[in-house]
Amino acid sequence: MNTQAQRVSVHGGHSGQFCGHAQGALEEIVQAYITAGFSWVGITEHMPPREERFIYPEEKEAGMGPEHLHLRFASYIDECRRLQKKYHNDLRIFVGMETETYRGSVALVRDLVKEFQPDYLVGSVHHVDDMPFDTSPEEYARVAEALGGHDRLYCRYFDQQYEMLVSLKPSVVGHFDIIRLYDPQYRKRLLKKEIVWRIKRNLDFIAANNLILDFNLRSLIKGADEPYVSLSILEKAFRSGIAVVPGDDSHGVDTIGRYVDEAVVLLGKSGFSCTWQQPTLL
Ligand SMILES: [Zn+2]
Ligand SMILES: [Zn+2]
Repeated sequence: MNTQAQRVSVHGGHSGQFCGHAQGALEEIVQAYITAGFSWVGITEHMPPREERFIYPEEKEAGMGPEHLHLRFASYIDECRRLQKKYHNDLRIFVGMETETYRGSVALVRDLVKEFQPDYLVGSVHHVDDMPFDTSPEEYARVAEALGGHDRLYCRYFDQQYEMLVSLKPSVVGHFDIIRLYDPQYRKRLLKKEIVWRIKRNLDFIAANNLILDFNLRSLIKGADEPYVSLSILEKAFRSGIAVVPGDDSHGVDTIGRYVDEAVVLLGKSGFSCTWQQPTLL
């Protein structure tokens, strides 16, 4: 194992304070990163939706509307800035925002960036054609069926990811192949011709713009046997000279830093130097 590698996370720190499907107060999360010996972390709370239909189910159930979520996001930014100052001797904190990708999201992201001035963006896709696919296996199957099968689902996902990348050039690209989430056949599918060229197109854009690929460890927590990205994509990223950096995508104190050391081993085996590129400030 590369014992020189610093512990970092380029995507994570979701907290129960500011996200309906996470746990814990943000300050506890920051303290847990410090205890775990992290050098720097990006705290990347989900952006608030403008429309009811894009509110996460658990937040809808809690009766939250777009206005409430907007205000909560404003408190997130304030609290994260306060913690950034308070702990600056112990940990470098980046105050980030994780995007959504759906109809109207690019304009919304631009407005939010103007209003809240986060340090950087994690560009993520959790919807295909405005339908959320990562909430449950049933939801995932429904979206695949609506798109006409898994191959088309992947193609559409990578096309919409590409549009998002071109429009926003996010400093970090979140869980690049999360579209494989509930697909047992994903390894084979990632090698299909119509999917491979789309992956290559997106990686070429990432390389040309010096964006960071989130080596996202949440898949391991959910039971997968490899992080996002899958090995076939990781090898392509390496050959393209793309910076790949661990992201624990933590949603509570107990997932802080989980599998980060394993990630370092995996990246080292694939030839990466494990000196981590930091997000470029907006
Ligand atoms: Zn989340
Ligand atoms: Zn995400």
